[in-house]
Amino acid sequence: MGSTARVPGAVSWEPWTIADIKTDIKETGKSFPRNVAYIDNLKLDPELQPTQYQLTGTHPESTILITDVKILDSTGREPYRGDVLIRGEKIVAVGQVPNKDDLQKDPRVRVFNGKGRTLMSGLGDGHTHFTWNGGDLARLGELGVEEHVLLTVKSAQCFLDSGYTMCFGAASAKDRLDVVVRDAINAGDVPGPRYMANGREIAKPDGDLVAGITAFAEGAEEMRRTVRRHIVDFGVDNVKLSMSGEEICDARSAQDCFFTDEETAAAVDEAHKYKKRVCAHARARDSVTQCIKHGVDVIFHGSYVDDEGMEMLEQTKHRQFIVPAINWLWATSFEAEAFGYSHEAAEKAGYKKELEIAVAGLREMHRRGIVVLPGGDYGFAWTPHGTYARDLEHFVKLLDFTPHEAIIAATAGVAALLMRGDELGKIQPGYYADCILVNGDPLEDITVLQDHSKLDVIIINGRVHKAGRKEYIVDTSGALTTGVQSTKHLEVDYPEMKPAMQKAY
Ligand SMILES: [Zn+2]
Repeated sequence: MGSTARVPGAVSWEPWTIADIKTDIKETGKSFPRNVAYIDNLKLDPELQPTQYQLTGTHPESTILITDVKILDSTGREPYRGDVLIRGEKIVAVGQVPNKDDLQKDPRVRVFNGKGRTLMSGLGDGHTHFTWNGGDLARLGELGVEEHVLLTVKSAQCFLDSGYTMCFGAASAKDRLDVVVRDAINAGDVPGPRYMANGREIAKPDGDLVAGITAFAEGAEEMRRTVRRHIVDFGVDNVKLSMSGEEICDARSAQDCFFTDEETAAAVDEAHKYKKRVCAHARARDSVTQCIKHGVDVIFHGSYVDDEGMEMLEQTKHRQFIVPAINWLWATSFEAEAFGYSHEAAEKAGYKKELEIAVAGLREMHRRGIVVLPGGDYGFAWTPHGTYARDLEHFVKLLDFTPHEAIIAATAGVAALLMRGDELGKIQPGYYADCILVNGDPLEDITVLQDHSKLDVIIINGRVHKAGRKEYIVDTSGALTTGVQSTKHLEVDYPEMKPAMQKAY
């Protein structure tokens, strides 16, 4: 058994309670988003650069012109009015587009009339479970592999439908589900975001959260073997350790850490040897400090961090990410009643208390320049797929991020987590064309990103995944009043890009 620490450590920062919740979530003033510098200051080990996957299927000659948009470019700059040109997979011009008039007349160019709507980077989620079923996790272990593949494909598409173009896999319910769906997305076979795949979460015997979806290991040698199997045999991009408990599992407190120092150190060392990064479910004080001490790259939750852990984290903030998945604590405390987990039961289990302690710690991290990213354990019954952008609202209401900071975290921040900050997550020339056209101003109202009907256009890798009906409306007078000049692209006659029917799988 690992160390346990039921008594939380001392904390010296300002406490936070539900009564302190922020109700005004508008952008106040025009302060420059603080986390631009936090993200820029990251110095991640280049040895751990992930496999560079490409999404296939975008024709290199494909050209998209988006005119008259409010460009929220994720550099920290205030949104400004301009045009954006996409050619092939990449953004080639932002603000002023050369030869705009010629492009507008060119029948091979797809034109969107932005009409002042907001164009921003596609969103990113730092803690993703494609394989969670939106219901009872305990039953996931029993779900047939055939049904499970379909479910996984469906959630991948749901992320993209929700405006998410980058996701960091935080554990898969079966060994290869994440990997197979990642490869299918990259091959252009199924729609989905850019994805870093995970395997089953690795836990100690008697330290699991859900036995049927867990890979068990005990002792340093077995940790190394299991990590190796995930990387070499299954092809994962990330390795997940499940180090602490979770209040909903009665016998495994969120304040208990089940891993020993030797086990954590061995798992990280082995993964890094194979150039893969490690993320960890770490709610307990001791699991957080072990993560920092042994170089876990991405710390999930971090609820019970204490003074010692916070000091350590500040020292290592250039190489570690915190992804709190705060919606789980929020929804379990306040929204699980309809699913048979009453508010009283949640409070008794300690969720509300954990929420308050976690929020206080996360606010302190944000003050100290530690990179905190959205991403949130969506796919449970009361945290359903498709509601991912609630995380940004929580960041503003609970964690004292400005709306601009929440957007920076979800775009440039998650791109940095994918170690692709120089080509993803911003509306800049040279960046991959992953972007969303939003009917509304997310800086005025961050919740607009939760409304799929306001995500008018979704583009990934220079391909239009979604263009709502209003982009096609043609004026009866014959003049095109809005959106795409739909008659135009009928004249386009590119050779078809056809994926091979027989794939390696
Ligand atoms: Zn999770």
